[in-house]
Amino acid sequence: MKEVYQSPVHDLDAGTLFVVPTPIGNIEDLTLRSIRILGGVDWIAAEDTRHTGLLLSRIGIKKQLFSLHQFNESGRSQQLVELLRSGQRGALVTDAGTPGISDPGQRFVRDIVQAGISLMALPGACAIPVALSASGFVHSDFFFAGFPPMKSGQRIKRMQSLAAIESILVFYESPHKMPRFLSEAYQVFPTRPIIIGRELTKKFEEYIRGSVTEIHEKYQTRSWKGEMVILIDNTAGTS
Ligand code: SAM
Repeated sequence: MKEVYQSPVHDLDAGTLFVVPTPIGNIEDLTLRSIRILGGVDWIAAEDTRHTGLLLSRIGIKKQLFSLHQFNESGRSQQLVELLRSGQRGALVTDAGTPGISDPGQRFVRDIVQAGISLMALPGACAIPVALSASGFVHSDFFFAGFPPMKSGQRIKRMQSLAAIESILVFYESPHKMPRFLSEAYQVFPTRPIIIGRELTKKFEEYIRGSVTEIHEKYQTRSWKGEMVILIDNTAGTS
């Protein structure tokens, strides 16, 4: 394995940004290619440099790190675009999963595209396909709704508007908002099948399945912990 980490950079195109997914819980989900590219670039732009530093130390890589998060993305992006223009190779990572999927990176990547800089996105860990592929839902499409809005008034309106989409609806939600999510889903989708994928790829991974009403009633007093991705089957014929 040492050889993989230490692999030379000459086969990585100069002046390229590599978008590299990182594990959502299990370090083994970092691909061999991701490790090789992280080892070969000149620097890594990371959502949280401390968090990424720990991941890199576990795989024996030491790199210059730049922080790139939602509050500094525009300014940092300009600086990194210049480094890429000068021929350096860079990587973009976030704390967990795929950059740009409910995570920083979208504006940076837009700037890269607009500047005509070479860009390569790698496949890798992301909570959405893990939950979908374990769902057992038979579907030809899905709709990623992301996190529900922050403001209470907008949450139920958003859910009501999603009810018009006949698809598997995929949500991200934080643990402390789960009771609210379930009571809103109960108002809008009472009879639909729901799956909550909790702590996927981690030690206490769990899938909770049932109708929205069943799950709402059963887990009313549960104190939710960890990370959750939620699927609601809103396809025709499931209510
Ligand atoms: N970019 C990430 C991805 O590719 O999945 C998502 C980042 S977003 C800030 C974090 C949210 O993703 C969590 O609140 C949760 O909804 C979902 N998530 C991330 N890791 C997860 C896991 N191991 N199990 C279930 N959901 C997860």
